Order: sequence, then structure tokens, then C-alpha cells
Amino acid sequence: MTTPIPSIPVQLAGQPTIGGLVVPWTTGRTPDGRYRFGAVDLDRHNQAMTDRLCQTCGVPLEDRIVLAMRDSDLRTLTSHEPGMHPVCAAYAATACPMLAGRMHHYRVTSLAGQLADLGVSSHGDPADARAGATAEPWQLVWASGYRVYTHPRTNLLAAMVLPEQILRVRRIGDSTPHEGHRPGAADSTGGETHP
Ligand SMILES: [Zn+2]
Repeated sequence: MTTPIPSIPVQLAGQPTIGGLVVPWTTGRTPDGRYRFGAVDLDRHNQAMTDRLCQTCGVPLEDRIVLAMRDSDLRTLTSHEPGMHPVCAAYAATACPMLAGRMHHYRVTSLAGQLADLGVSSHGDPADARAGATAEPWQLVWASGYRVYTHPRTNLLAAMVLPEQILRVRRIGDSTPHEGHRPGAADSTGGETHP
């Protein structure tokens, strides 16, 4: 399957690219400076979480924050990734292989392995449990804010969104927005199949 390379929005025009795809601001690098898609720069991850920066462009977020969450994240109202601008999230939803659902499985290399490659030690490992597992669908969650906390399982900074902070939820790849959807209310997260 060939996928057209999405056009890059103005907001991301200054970002480095690989193969025509924007490299997210929080992307980790190998010791010799090459970016590795899927690897996380923990310093930037933490800075983005704490300072409310966009994980894609690194610029401060505004009053509409978009978080990418899997179904299991939505149930716990937690995003393990920093927020994004709406325009950056829209780009990521089409350009990021995992968000766009082009990867049926997470790559088997765990985050711990990737971090080890990068010379970074990790305390927890959010990817270990899901390495090689079937990828869950992702949702884009529009929120008015979030609270940063250290996730007890990963020991990494995560973003918790309160139900009243959720403005809308849209399943990536689904063009129909679910206005006013609240997790725990009508359950749009289970049972749906995807083409
Ligand atoms: Zn952005």
C-alpha cells in the first residue's frame, strides 16, 4: 500500500523532515544525531508536558489542546504523550504511521531498547507491555487543559484530563466528530470495527 505524503502545514514548515514527513519535536535521536521516529527525547517529553508545549512543533499550546489517546488511555483519562495544536494533531493523524493506523503492530523493539540505543536509561517502560502487541485504535481528544502527573506504571510524566475539560473526541480515521462525547457515557470506544 502506498500512502501519499501529506502536505506540511505552515505551523510545521520550519521543522526537520525525513522522507517528506515532519519529525516531531519530541523525537529522540541516536548518539550520532540522527532522528529515530518512535523514539522519545525524554527531556523534551518532560519539558513539553510541564511547559504545555506542542509535542509536534515545540511551540506553547493555546486554549485548545489536542491529545492522542488509545482506548485504554481514554478510559483512564490519561495521555502518555504531550498535547498538540489542532493543526499539528491533524497533520500527525495523517502523517504518523502509528496514529494513522498504518502499523498493525507496534514494532517489537521496546522503548527501553530504543532508549538504551540512545544511551538513555528509563525507569519505567510504557512500551514494554505493548511491544509487539496489536495496536489499539487512537482517538484525538480536544481538551481545554490537563494536569501533569507522574504515571505510577511508567514513572513518566503523563497528562490527565478531567471529564469537564474534554471538548470532543474523534477517532482517527473517522471523519465524524463525536461532539460532546464523554468517556464512560455512550461508549464509542468498544466494539467498532475498522475497514
Ligand atoms: Zn504544534
